[in-house]
Amino acid sequence: REAEAWEARFQEARTRDGHRVEVAANLGNTAHAADAVERGAEGVGLLRTEFLFMAHAQEPDLETQIAEYREALDALGGRPLVARTLDVGGDKPLPYWPVPTEDNPFLGLRGIRLALTRPKVLETQFRAMLMAAAGVPAAGATGRDRPLRIMLPMVKDVGEFRAAKAILDRLLEEIPEAERTTDVQLGVMIEVPSCALLAPTLAAEVDFFSVGTNDLTQYTLAIDRGHPELSAQADGLHPAVLRLIEMTVSAAHAQGKWVGVCGELASDAVAVPVLVGLGVDELSVSARQVPLVKARLAEVDLEEARRQAGLALAQATSEAVRDALEVR
Ligand code: PEP
Ligand code: MG
Repeated sequence: REAEAWEARFQEARTRDGHRVEVAANLGNTAHAADAVERGAEGVGLLRTEFLFMAHAQEPDLETQIAEYREALDALGGRPLVARTLDVGGDKPLPYWPVPTEDNPFLGLRGIRLALTRPKVLETQFRAMLMAAAGVPAAGATGRDRPLRIMLPMVKDVGEFRAAKAILDRLLEEIPEAERTTDVQLGVMIEVPSCALLAPTLAAEVDFFSVGTNDLTQYTLAIDRGHPELSAQADGLHPAVLRLIEMTVSAAHAQGKWVGVCGELASDAVAVPVLVGLGVDELSVSARQVPLVKARLAEVDLEEARRQAGLALAQATSEAVRDALEVR
């Protein structure tokens, strides 16, 4: 099966009955983008840019950042890049950005909250992304050939989105069109339950959502995702998490916006049909998993997927969901 999946890895990802769902790769290093394409990724669905920052002893300057994002975009050859802005704090400290000691770092200054306290850093990151995605005139390319999707982590409501968007909008005015991409979207991760609950208010303003099921599960079930004893219970197939995903997708689709899933749930063979049945448009998984997830998708029938999603939503616990879905 693995050999078959590998053979078919460059086929467009679709369900057995032809419903299109994109399969993209999660990356922490832009040097791995070429490998992701070689494994059949249809884009990068999550670039964890904090790893670029962690790899440097101090904040990387504009030129350094442009070079890194350009490396990924070059390798992607016109496939979309979903680049997440810095997601540090919580479990991911940055030595040169000391955060005061917190009793509850996962509930503290992390993700977009931390970035908005350092708007200059966020601005430089936006600028680098926009400029890296500019067309390369020598190659006869335009900004349209390097689709850039900028994604904000740990957003709790539309207020944080607006604050970040104001910075991006200012740059779009300031940087001449020839020096930046014109194909840019700004979206938010759905990782905090409040965002899923308020998805209709966000969907009206964002360009897309990507569900970070690792954090969404952690915050919905109040279980530390890395807890040595409890993390096994932090199952993204919990019906409470699935309901939040359903709310997110229906709000997004009502506004014509797309929804990805970039947490670990996206590569869970049992979860794939459920996510498809809930209407998710893109699955982003580790590069290694791309061929397998594409092959899994090719086994799924949309009507059956919708039935499985309905069945899962009707359960009371994650164990019951897995019992109801798993072929034993
Ligand atoms: C998530 O929370 O699901 C996610 C994809 O982000 P990270 O794992 O980097 O926190
Ligand atoms: Mg996360």
